[in-house]
Amino acid sequence: MAAAQPPAPPAEVVVPDHGLYEQPVPVKGRGVFPARAIPRGALVIKFVGPVYTRDTCPEFSEAIQVGVNAWMHSSGGLDDLVNHACDPNCGLWQVGPDTFLIALRDIPAGEELSFDYSTSMVDEPWSLEGCGCGTALCRGVVANFLDMPADHQARYAAAGALPEHVWVTAKARGVRLVRAGTLDAVAAVPANPADAAE
Ligand SMILES: [Zn+2]
Repeated sequence: MAAAQPPAPPAEVVVPDHGLYEQPVPVKGRGVFPARAIPRGALVIKFVGPVYTRDTCPEFSEAIQVGVNAWMHSSGGLDDLVNHACDPNCGLWQVGPDTFLIALRDIPAGEELSFDYSTSMVDEPWSLEGCGCGTALCRGVVANFLDMPADHQARYAAAGALPEHVWVTAKARGVRLVRAGTLDAVAAVPANPADAAE
């Protein structure tokens, strides 16, 4: 009897070179900027670093939740330095086990990159009161995604810019998120399958 074929590996994902660099920013310390304009839907940067469980993560404020029980710690690279905003120009995008930032809109050269830290956070022990992102949609707090106002949740869900563990946890807790569409330019990138199984 022939053995079952192993599943095909995911297509290799290449992050374009946007000429990313860091520079000091007020209040937040350091930030990440692109030397070249980034079109909406382009992958921006890949998160890298050691991955811990809830029980072993040494410092949650230095980590990003990347799975139901997985936190990726700082790497020393530029991916550590992308600041939070409640109305960010980038969002989280997962391909297989890897977590990236993707451009949620066209980003001009020299505009600071940001993403909404809350879009990775479910059951997160860490939160931040007094968000100073200064955007018009500022919620004033960086905390768990499922505690975010529904219209903010819906915006990220519609873009598909949420990691797998957020879809899974939302569904398990009866929070219905609808992926209204994906970003046009990344239609070829596999999207998270969790919400398609309803
Ligand atoms: Zn804010």
